[in-house]
Amino acid sequence: MPRTPPGKPSALRTRLLEWYDAHRRDLPWRTAAGAEPDPYRVWLSEVMLQQTRVETVKPYFERWLTRFPDLRSLAEAPLDEVLKRWEGLGYYSRARNFHRAVREVAERFGGAVPGDPAEFRALPGVGRYTAGAVMSIAFGRAEPLVDGNVRRVFARWTDDPAPADAELWSLAEALVPGERPGDLNQAVMELGATVCVPRNPRCEACPVREFCAAYQEGTQNQRPAPKQAKPTPHEDTATAVVEHEGRLLLVRRPVDARLGGLWAFPAAVRKRGEGVAAAAERAVREGLGMEVRAGEEVGRVEHGFTHVRVTYHAVRCAPVAGEPRAIGYDAWAWATAEEMEGYALPVAQKKIAALATEPTLFR
Ligand code: SF4
Repeated sequence: MPRTPPGKPSALRTRLLEWYDAHRRDLPWRTAAGAEPDPYRVWLSEVMLQQTRVETVKPYFERWLTRFPDLRSLAEAPLDEVLKRWEGLGYYSRARNFHRAVREVAERFGGAVPGDPAEFRALPGVGRYTAGAVMSIAFGRAEPLVDGNVRRVFARWTDDPAPADAELWSLAEALVPGERPGDLNQAVMELGATVCVPRNPRCEACPVREFCAAYQEGTQNQRPAPKQAKPTPHEDTATAVVEHEGRLLLVRRPVDARLGGLWAFPAAVRKRGEGVAAAAERAVREGLGMEVRAGEEVGRVEHGFTHVRVTYHAVRCAPVAGEPRAIGYDAWAWATAEEMEGYALPVAQKKIAALATEPTLFR
């Protein structure tokens, strides 16, 4: 039997909405009470907020709207510029998918974000959470959502150490029908972000204590139980810093690859038994059809992605034969340290660039 919070759902809804009206944070993407939400802004904020803290997102959101104030301006922008504006926010597939989806909306829906859940959900990168958020907040549709905050709040309401996804979604589905579904969804997330926080929830300030089974049992700090962390795989990657006449060789990664569409140094994951120098030479040969001679390792950069940890060994290389050709990459360019500022480089590549442009290298 799925667990449910104690008390009546209608009373729980009322309490949440009253609390939200009095305590919601003033955030740049939130529409003033009674004003018409802009679906493009709502959607943008939801994409930016995935896996990223509110305080980090705020300045990005404002700057983004200065450059791309509406859906059409974003649809017309080249991917290179979109990724450059996203630089530093990480999880770049969000930006690529959002850009693809916005272009599709411009072409197929005349630039108006579809308010039909099935049509919206079919757009690139739109998962169940994003669909629930945009449909409920921007269009007032009774669509449920579950994110990390909601999961924690529900686990406490139901005193369930490990709630299954299906149970969480059915609880969200049961709660959302009624007045102001968008505010209701936001109220649960806001409660999780500001009161029902992961450690030491502020139960004394909680508007829904009487609906919370964990509060009644005194188990709120054990709900939900921590997930067993899986060991993260590790990749050892040789990165070729190829220098020629004061410029370094950059490549643009294929759009469907990890960090696709972004600029980087040519790189290859080391094979078993392969030295760093040999792997760096292979990276340039296979990716660009060019021969280089690897020299010293100029430094290492460690970076953690969601599913893999990577050690980048930055190896200084000199061209030996051939001109670069875009074989394993979309494009290539020679850039000075100054010119590199104009390319969208992910954070680890910026660190490699910093190592690579130390005075010992640019003589
Ligand atoms: S009573 Fe405490 S644990 Fe329960 S929902 Fe409120 S803040 Fe969270």
